[in-house]
Amino acid sequence: MTLEELNYKIYACRKCRLWHGAKHGVPGEGPLNARVMLVGQNPGADEDELGRPFVGRAGKFLTKILAENGIKREDVFITNIVKHVSPKNRKPFADEVAACLPYLNAQISTIKPKTIVLLGASAKDAPRVEGIEYLEIVHPSAAMRFNKMREKFKRQIAELTKRMNQ
Ligand code: SF4
Repeated sequence: MTLEELNYKIYACRKCRLWHGAKHGVPGEGPLNARVMLVGQNPGADEDELGRPFVGRAGKFLTKILAENGIKREDVFITNIVKHVSPKNRKPFADEVAACLPYLNAQISTIKPKTIVLLGASAKDAPRVEGIEYLEIVHPSAAMRFNKMREKFKRQIAELTKRMNQ
């Protein structure tokens, strides 16, 4: 299945209750040959509005820090574990995660990234695939709010750059 076909499946998906309150499915975006995949937990209100991942304040901050470290956003694939926004941005329930994970698994097997970067709480739910390197890092929204987290986040993105250049 192509990424485009997968996107249409996500837009039309009714496998869990989350589609009901959402404006748009947010499959994720990035090149088919991305070496790095960034995975958050679920889209927020800005992402729901535009149908694109990490486009709100945290997403802009993430894009900025990636750029400062020589990583262009358009060179990485960005997505979430769960593809529809949740009510009041609550954490997705276990059954919602279970219903949605096949889409992330399909994205991983299509793109075959070298490294998967797990942002914040997504680390708990993300599948681990043999042969792929994983990097668990601070979520950009936490990095924006807390100085210590920000410094840690910057160090972790610098580590990602190092790995990409190896
Ligand atoms: S969150 Fe995932 S499983 Fe639930 S309706 Fe959306 S695409 Fe389907």
